[in-house]
Amino acid sequence: MVIQNKKIAIVGGGPGGLTLARLLQLKGADVKVYERDINKEVRVQGGALDLHTESGLAALEKAGLLDEFKMHYRPGAELTRVVNNQAEIYADQHGTRTVEKFGDKNHRPEIDRGPLREIMLNSLQPGTVVWDSHILSIEKLQDTWKLVFQNGNTVIADIVIGGDGANSKIRPFVTDIKPFWTGITMIEGSIKEAETTAPVIHKLLKGGKIFAFGNDKTLIVSSKGDGSFGFATSFKTKEFWDKECGIDFKDNKQMLAWFKQEYKEWSSIWYELFENGNTIFIPRPQYCMPLNQKWKAQSNITLIGDAAHWMPPFAGEGVNMAMLDALQLSENLTSNEFENTKKAIANYEKQMFRRFAIVGQGTLFNTEWMHKSKALNNMLSMFSPNILKQGLFISKMVLSVYVIPTIRKVFGLVPKQASFYDERIDLNKMGI
Ligand SMILES: Cc1cc2nc3c(=O)[nH]c(=O)nc-3n(C[C@H](O)[C@H](O)[C@H](O)COP(=O)(O)OP(=O)(O)OC[C@H]3O[C@@H](n4cnc5c(N)ncnc54)[C@H](O)[C@@H]3O)c2cc1C
Repeated sequence: MVIQNKKIAIVGGGPGGLTLARLLQLKGADVKVYERDINKEVRVQGGALDLHTESGLAALEKAGLLDEFKMHYRPGAELTRVVNNQAEIYADQHGTRTVEKFGDKNHRPEIDRGPLREIMLNSLQPGTVVWDSHILSIEKLQDTWKLVFQNGNTVIADIVIGGDGANSKIRPFVTDIKPFWTGITMIEGSIKEAETTAPVIHKLLKGGKIFAFGNDKTLIVSSKGDGSFGFATSFKTKEFWDKECGIDFKDNKQMLAWFKQEYKEWSSIWYELFENGNTIFIPRPQYCMPLNQKWKAQSNITLIGDAAHWMPPFAGEGVNMAMLDALQLSENLTSNEFENTKKAIANYEKQMFRRFAIVGQGTLFNTEWMHKSKALNNMLSMFSPNILKQGLFISKMVLSVYVIPTIRKVFGLVPKQASFYDERIDLNKMGI
């Protein structure tokens, strides 16, 4: 294999980085993961994740971790209720959805981020993850890289793989391509002991997911196995809204006031999400890497996951793509098919670019319709037992995701960099 006797440094111990470390270690590679979290006890933020058969689950199977996954996933957590802004249920998968099995194409079992990380960490040789290793930068030496950490440490590696997420420090050493602004800001929240702190939403959630739509806004709530739940609401804003709006996202009173103003058409049922003093809010402005991105492969550095192809989360593909990147890159680096690391990396990147062009298009398609006035109708068409209704929506998607991009490719047209923002949220009017 082309990485014989090479020291590999993976930057970032997210789902992408840890999957890659496991897959490479299974083939005897010398690999370390440098993670900025202080230690493995740091609580992993974010809602539950659904893993897809052809990507996330395929990577877990190759990593020999599918049985472990089956012991920790949460059957039923994927069951969704689609509601309007008054929390009236329009579609409900509880009791109606056929239960799929592992191996079925459409099976999307859910797992919380914490247990997923735990499964991966337990599968690695002791000392593989070097905690408290916040990378500030890297320096190119002759044939190697010097990694420089915030804590003053440095290490030398033969190959660097950036799995350090959306705001990757490694990306600029691979490409000067920048993500573009999509026009959407998301605010993520996390509620502990939901049964007592947000009892009405907890009941509505029923251990699954809620998708709520209204007034060009989206609210997704997702249950977690520890009795907490994660939620994320998204809406159109101008770029840098999170910095310029004047809201202190740590001040829950301000957050509630903001929600009441900005979501005034929404039922007061949702206030539960914002009222509790313990809720933590994280603003997440939504960017996307250009769908036609490409760069020249190098022999000793590459990117996986959000570092490679940051996109909004509205197609639920981010983790799945990060894990599939890890699978494809590990196969290339450990196969005897390639003459050298550069060819192995170039082949991986080619597959990744092609895949992202399609998945990213689907993601932007969802991002757009989910923040339009007909979002609820569109979601219901997707869930509809009426084949005609569902077919119409799927045709729209196929046109947007496959047909138009193919026409663009044939005629050499540049894909549009969608920004869905078309109106300004006036904070003065909101009294904040
Ligand atoms: C609200 C929300 C909901 C989402 N829902 C879904 C979903 O349902 N399904 C789905 O598939 N995806 C979802 N995503 C997207 C998904 O979380 C990401 O695509 C996925 O986590 C990417 O994995 P990764 O390993 O590439 O990066 P990350 O998960 O971002 O991991 C990067 C790791 O690198 C570490 N790191 C960062 N910088 C440094 C540094 N300088 N030095 C050292 N370490 C560093 C971080 O601490 C982290 O552990 C969602 C995202 C958000 C924000």
